[in-house]
Amino acid sequence: MMTSEKISDVQNFPVPQGGVGLLILQPSPFCNINCDYCYLPERTSHKRMSISVLKQAIERVITAGLVGDKLSIVWHAGEPLALPIAFYEEAFEAIATLPIAGDKITHSMQSNGMLINDEWCSFIRAHDIKLGLSIDGPAFIHDAHRKTRGGKGTHTQVMKGVEVLRKNQIDFHVIAVITEQALDFPDEIFQFFLDNGVRQVGLNIEELEGVNHTSTLTGDSQGQRVKKFFRRIYELQKKTNGFPAIREFDRAYQAIAQGSVEDEPLSFPQNDQVAPFAIISVAYDGSISTFSPELLGLKSPEYGEFYFGNVMTDDLSDVAAGVKFQHVLSDIQAGVQLCSDSCEYFSFCGGGAPSNKYYENGSFASAETMFCRYTIKTPIDIVLEDLELSLGLSLPGVESQNTVSAVR
Ligand code: SF4
Repeated sequence: MMTSEKISDVQNFPVPQGGVGLLILQPSPFCNINCDYCYLPERTSHKRMSISVLKQAIERVITAGLVGDKLSIVWHAGEPLALPIAFYEEAFEAIATLPIAGDKITHSMQSNGMLINDEWCSFIRAHDIKLGLSIDGPAFIHDAHRKTRGGKGTHTQVMKGVEVLRKNQIDFHVIAVITEQALDFPDEIFQFFLDNGVRQVGLNIEELEGVNHTSTLTGDSQGQRVKKFFRRIYELQKKTNGFPAIREFDRAYQAIAQGSVEDEPLSFPQNDQVAPFAIISVAYDGSISTFSPELLGLKSPEYGEFYFGNVMTDDLSDVAAGVKFQHVLSDIQAGVQLCSDSCEYFSFCGGGAPSNKYYENGSFASAETMFCRYTIKTPIDIVLEDLELSLGLSLPGVESQNTVSAVR
């Protein structure tokens, strides 16, 4: 179906303010390693995105009127560096032919760092690609989970990649997955990033998602340990004057500074994961997903695959009018409403991550998850407690519910 409508032409459709925030492109689902907490189902497949799918994906976003001031393209959902550089040379040449100014587009890649060499550095520099590496900390933590298909640790090879990046003066941020094992080692993890001059770190808790059906962080006893871990990281970061930046605390500060969205519970883009088309994900074969990026490639008994169309056949307005899309949207909005009705953190969070709600609670139409307790509520509590202490508003040991109430 090809209607060439803008999204705003679809009746009663909530258009994301500022256009699409992220366009996630899956150049291939393949990954060259085999981390035991990975949620991606097709990571042994070498299929790759064709240039026609790539061009069509970006053209659909342009035609839908969803390009704002910037278009941020993220090459993800597999190991992007597992494809040859020639693939990206062709891809970037094709993008340059599209009706969008080159300086509007930024490119990012999230890599396991195993394949970085001088040639990749030249390409990354030439195209000003923002690079993120996945490193869980020192070798004894990283190698416990991030392994080759043969079961060997990957830390040594990743650190060789880090050296090559340093030699080529290419900056990068890091995402570290926090498992139960890591909770006992906040000092070692923080020191590792400090020693390696990493300027920005995201701490992803091990999630229950996709084909990762278990997490070492489930269970009532883990909540206090997670909070202790984050609190220690916060203390260490204060001693180093905020270096490295920790994404979870930055987000908490940002959320607190932005204030309340509770008068407009479905407003955009405070929470891009619940705003249709604020994040668009396109699989290697052109299949389109939106909402949480992690939904790309996943499926469920209730909805089937979380694909809502294909860029080769469907405009985004077709996608927006589709039955499955409307079903998922309505369930996600019900979940946001539940959050709005029940959660003191709603004004900071805007309704959480639909993929975590689905894979933890079995429904988009649900509220609290382990993910939000650990990555939204806990960092906000820690930052608010610290702000309260700094302002002399409270005594140490204040509980989080009181803390949140105190600033509303
Ligand atoms: S913190 Fe959790 S329960 Fe609260 S609004 Fe966010 S997702 Fe919903």
